[in-house]
Amino acid sequence: YAAKRRQLGVLVYDTSMDTRSSASLSLLSELRVAIEQEELRLYVQPKVDLKTGQVLGGEALVRWLHPQRGLVPPMQFIPFAEQTGFIRQITVWMLETGVQALQRWQEAGLSMKLSINLSTRDLLDPTLTDRVRGLLDRHRVSAAWLCLEITESAIMDDPARALQTLQKLHELGVRLSIDDFGTGYSSLAYLKRLPVDELKIDRSFVTNMERDLDDARIVQSTIGLAHNLGLTVVAEGVETDKAWALLARLGCDEGQGYGIGRPMPSAEFLGWVRRWEAPSNEALHVDTDFA
Ligand code: C2E
Ligand code: MG
Ligand code: MG
Ligand code: MG
Repeated sequence: YAAKRRQLGVLVYDTSMDTRSSASLSLLSELRVAIEQEELRLYVQPKVDLKTGQVLGGEALVRWLHPQRGLVPPMQFIPFAEQTGFIRQITVWMLETGVQALQRWQEAGLSMKLSINLSTRDLLDPTLTDRVRGLLDRHRVSAAWLCLEITESAIMDDPARALQTLQKLHELGVRLSIDDFGTGYSSLAYLKRLPVDELKIDRSFVTNMERDLDDARIVQSTIGLAHNLGLTVVAEGVETDKAWALLARLGCDEGQGYGIGRPMPSAEFLGWVRRWEAPSNEALHVDTDFA
């Protein structure tokens, strides 16, 4: 039992973990097994139109259903997978599983988009675009239904190569989104040159917006910036109807957050969409001096 506990203990990633240590070697082999044994799960969190309440699609979020540890959240293995390069296998799995889900949604007659997260390594992978094209062809899904999310810091890691990859993906017709906007080391000069369609305001600003006027002003200016650059703007972390109302008043296009729907197993998503009812106009009425 002690040996088993030790083995499980190393599973949790911590930043001090040396990627050559035996603990991390063990995590790496566990991740390989996770893919072979199909322990990864596709979760989907809904994204809605803040003006009409319509469900526009969702974001794909990975979970690891570990036989002993249960559902392991991405922050406990994604950073490690990024450091060791294993992220490429995870991305391939997410792309395959995500595009299959898109095909099922289309077969069910629903026009919905799916967003998938990419990491720095994926942007440096010259085979990524061909792989995405092959998957879309195989599942007869049009590129416009797939959105790829990239953080500012992933782009700034090697901006020239990232730009090349993004250009190719853009030519293929997939949507591109800047994730967690406002937290990274961002350069407006770069943002202007990127062939992106969407900007996601980091949830730290959105969740504080109702209490902190500075955060509300940051959200307001980011919406203006995005719109002036011709980008769709999405708020992350919409936890309350009040936040929804304020965001809608500020002109934010789309929202995602626990107040709308939590990430759920992809098999449950279509049922959720059918049951979904947007908040009433009264619920979305706010009295505020702001905006
Ligand atoms: P992200 O891409 O910014 O995804 C949004 C995260 O915010 C998700 O956490 C989601 O559950 C959480 N979230 C959404 N709405 C709310 C809310 O209203 N309140 C709060 N407190 N949280 C909310 P999750 O699923 O734990 O994922 C964390 C991060 O892990 C993601 O952040 C993304 O950076 C990374 N990640 C997840 N799946 C993948 C993947 O397949 N590939 C890669 N490269 N990264 C992934
Ligand atoms: Mg994301
Ligand atoms: Mg995000
Ligand atoms: Mg985030």
